[in-house]
Amino acid sequence: MRPPLSIITLGCPKNQVDSSHLAAAFTAEGFTCTETPDEAKVILINTCGFIEDAKRQSIDEILALATLKTDGTRLIVFGCLAQRYKEELIREIPEIDAIFGIGQDRAIVEYCKSIEYNGPAITPANQTTAHQPYAYLKIAEGCNRGCRFCAIPSIRGRFKSATLDSIIEEAKTHLGVGKKELILVAQDSASFGTDTGGDLVSLIDALASLDGDFWIRMLYLYPTSVTGGLIDCIKRHDKVVKYLDIPIQHSEEGILRAMGRSGSRAGYIELFERIRRHLPDVCLRTTLMAGFPGEGARDFKALLSFIEEVRFDRLGVFAYSDEEGTAACAMPEKVTKKTAQRRVEELMSLQAEIHYEKNCALVGMQFKALVDEVHEGTAAARLYCHAPEIDGCVFIEKLPDGFSADDFVTVQITGAEEYDLTGEIIY
Ligand code: SF4
Repeated sequence: MRPPLSIITLGCPKNQVDSSHLAAAFTAEGFTCTETPDEAKVILINTCGFIEDAKRQSIDEILALATLKTDGTRLIVFGCLAQRYKEELIREIPEIDAIFGIGQDRAIVEYCKSIEYNGPAITPANQTTAHQPYAYLKIAEGCNRGCRFCAIPSIRGRFKSATLDSIIEEAKTHLGVGKKELILVAQDSASFGTDTGGDLVSLIDALASLDGDFWIRMLYLYPTSVTGGLIDCIKRHDKVVKYLDIPIQHSEEGILRAMGRSGSRAGYIELFERIRRHLPDVCLRTTLMAGFPGEGARDFKALLSFIEEVRFDRLGVFAYSDEEGTAACAMPEKVTKKTAQRRVEELMSLQAEIHYEKNCALVGMQFKALVDEVHEGTAAARLYCHAPEIDGCVFIEKLPDGFSADDFVTVQITGAEEYDLTGEIIY
């Protein structure tokens, strides 16, 4: 008999795609997966090694899961952190039974097949069910950009697009089981097809031509690759949500060049104005890095004024941290951790005000919303401007009898908080 498994996923949506592919490979081999790791005889953890905080979270999680081990339970670690720090993890955490890097699904499945198990099967109530109404489609792996602070290219390798046919097939499978939102992810989504003679616009055209009522959302678009053609494509397809996630990391040219990134403050302002002109209701999201080596008080002040000027709808901010093997590690003029953290907080508090004002402006308006879950009489739904697990949501009370998740409804926004909204179902 196959031992019951539990897969815990940390990090970004790209890791979730990897975990769901691995879960599918296990299912095909007759394994059952449970959401409760203390019921499992094999606990697998898909780790993140992106920045210091993520690494710490992965290690804390491994240690916490190690305490659940009983006689014969195996603890398997895989993913980015495992790829990067294999030797150190094995040495420092003896509870780990096996460790695998990126792209080793087959080896993981074979390892698990070799584990002897004579215990009970998992009861169906505890088996993992994919209950969310959205699915991630990984359209490429790796990255060629070479940002000097980033270890991803050394972990995930060179940029490699998936084939258009394989993405369309996977999309059809998700739509066939009732998914209502397809989310395109990659380290560098805008570069899709540059290595294979294709392009992102053709992919979106093909996905949007599939039958059904569903949303398409794109994450991680490198700013200087957001072309007029891509903006037009987003505009012409109703299925493509008017939501653009364009991480810029910084606004000031000196810092951008030091980071090894292209773009400029003036270029970004022009880009975001152009997007808003073509897509008036667009939700713009970006990510910033505070405290990169050499970021002086004047650079940071300029970044704050840039945020005040552009007024992004969504903003994520990371504090710079030294990542082994990256060029930024060896750079002089390091900003102290305390200063970097203070800058993160200043940016987030500025954004909280902007976010609240933008949320208040939605009160009284009606939107199509996708219901992710219903719990104790309250539904959590998302509008086009909410990416799952990243942004806020709309909480809906007073649900009609028999109301269930996983479908579209029309909601009227009745209240706004700093992060989330409240609403009522219209129909
Ligand atoms: S674009 Fe830059 S930050 Fe993003 S994965 Fe590639 S190298 Fe890293």
